[in-house]
Formats: sequence, structure tokens, C-alpha cells
Amino acid sequence: MMKIRIIEIQKWLCQIGNGMVELLFPTPEQCPVCGQEECYHGGLGKNCLSRIAFILPPICWRCGRPQRLIAVTRKNCLQCNENRYYFSVARSVAVYEGFLREYLTELKYRYRPDLGEALGILLVEWVKCHPEYQKFNLIIPIPIHWQKLTVRGYNQAELLANPLQKYLGIPIKCDIIVRDKITLSQNALNKEERFANIHEAFRVIDTKPIAGAKILLIDDIFTTGATVSEASRVLMRAGAQDVKVLTLAGGILDSEWLAT
Ligand SMILES: [Zn+2]
Ligand SMILES: [Zn+2]
Repeated sequence: MMKIRIIEIQKWLCQIGNGMVELLFPTPEQCPVCGQEECYHGGLGKNCLSRIAFILPPICWRCGRPQRLIAVTRKNCLQCNENRYYFSVARSVAVYEGFLREYLTELKYRYRPDLGEALGILLVEWVKCHPEYQKFNLIIPIPIHWQKLTVRGYNQAELLANPLQKYLGIPIKCDIIVRDKITLSQNALNKEERFANIHEAFRVIDTKPIAGAKILLIDDIFTTGATVSEASRVLMRAGAQDVKVLTLAGGILDSEWLAT
């Protein structure tokens, strides 16, 4: 009974939250970071964009992490060899460092939903260059716990996914998978702790749209891959045909970079 009520509250917050965000923050004309330049393709201005380090090949074909030249002869990166990932492929648009890190901190902790949609344009621009990331049945943003949703006012992954949903014209579902467990912030944990922390954090509440579907899973940051992998696991178990992941920012792990 309690669980059903929580799910309903979450659905309600999701719908109301989206409506409010669109009402309060229509697509901006000025760059939402500096407010001093025109938006480029509806997102950040060119100056603020130039401060972002976009990920270029060589990358790991599976998880999308940047690879050192010395490691490109390997099929998988070290992390993909060590961890069992449940998504088929993951990609990140830019490196999680410097200004992009700042932009994402603003988005998550300082109530900046306008930044979410503007940064989401980067996912659209990336997908335009990657036809293999255009054919899906469903977009699912990684959910956050409903208590966090209440405090933050929105799910940042959903804001990032909205422009992509409009561009690809496929359904977005934010109410068929929920996050039951209030997890510790992944930032403070090492790799093993992150995988343990997120284990069984998600639950599918409606398997119908998932069965046989090719799913695009959206999140803000990919570091160890623990969060998106766990969500992929429950989606695959619920009958998804394939789960691919796209995140805005990808972290480079020291262990991976220094060991190669
Ligand atoms: Zn700017
Ligand atoms: Zn990899």
C-alpha cells in the first residue's frame, strides 16, 4: 500500500515538475551560463561550449571511456574486463572535468533547470553524428529517489533527455522504473563500494513498455558505470531487447589512465 502511494507521488511529481519547469524556464535565447552570448543550437553559447572537453576517439568500444593511444589495440578497456556491465554499449559526450563539472554541480545542487535543457542539446548534437544511437523504442532517464526529487525539484537526467526526446520523437518514460533505495552519494565511494551501494536500488513497476524494447538510458555522469549498469540489469531482466547508455559526462578513472 505504502509502495503504491510512493509510486503515485513520484509520478505526480514527475508530471507536475516537468510542467512547472517548462513554464518557468522556456527555451532561453541567451547562454544560461554567462548570459552574455547567444545560444548555439538552443544550448550554451559558443564561448561556454569551448570550455568543454568533448570525448574523441580512441575510446573503448564498449563503455566509451577515452583510451590512451598505447591501449587502443585492446578490445575492451580495463574496466570493461574487470566489471560485468549489463548495457550493450555506453557513450559519454564530454569529459567530466573543469567547466562541465561546474555546470553539472550547478544543475544538481543550485536549482538550475534551465541549464539541464541547454546541456541536453549536447546529447542531440552528439546523436546527430551517431546514427547507431537513433533507433530506439524508448528513452528512460535514470530515476532519482522521490525524496531527492522533492528537494531538488526535478530529475536532472530527465531534463537532459527532454531535447533528445523531441529530436528523436520517441516516447520518454520516467515512471516505469523507480529508485527505491536512498543511496549514499556515489562521489565519496570507491569502485567496489559504488557497485554495492547501487545494487538493487532500482525496481521496474511496469514491464509492458519494456518487453522487447530497444532502450536508450540517459544519465548525467558515467564514472564507474555502476549506476547505469544496475538500471540496465533490471531492464534486461524485465525483458528489454537491448539497453544502450548515453551520458553527458564521462569520468576518467586514474586507475584506468595510469595503468595503461
Ligand atoms: Zn556563455
Ligand atoms: Zn570500457
